Amino acid sequence: MGRRKSKRKGPPRRKAIESLPVLFDCPFCNHKQACEVKMDKGRKIGRVTCTVCMEAYQTSINLLSQPIDVFNDWIDACEEEN
Ligand SMILES: [Zn+2]
Repeated sequence: MGRRKSKRKGPPRRKAIESLPVLFDCPFCNHKQACEVKMDKGRKIGRVTCTVCMEAYQTSINLLSQPIDVFNDWIDACEEEN
């Protein structure tokens, strides 16, 4: 009475690597997940816009840039201003 191992695990879920909007917490109004990052790799521009307080920031990116890089640039720029 041997039980065969026939259980198959489904294929691992792949995360979509498409340029979906990425959300971060806003440093201005402190709303969670309110800042949308859009990567325009054609123009090499990354944009962050807060959908709540409409604060916006734009920075240059390269092909390896990630949305988090754009967001971090924004935070750095904010801290420099203060
Ligand atoms: Zn905001």
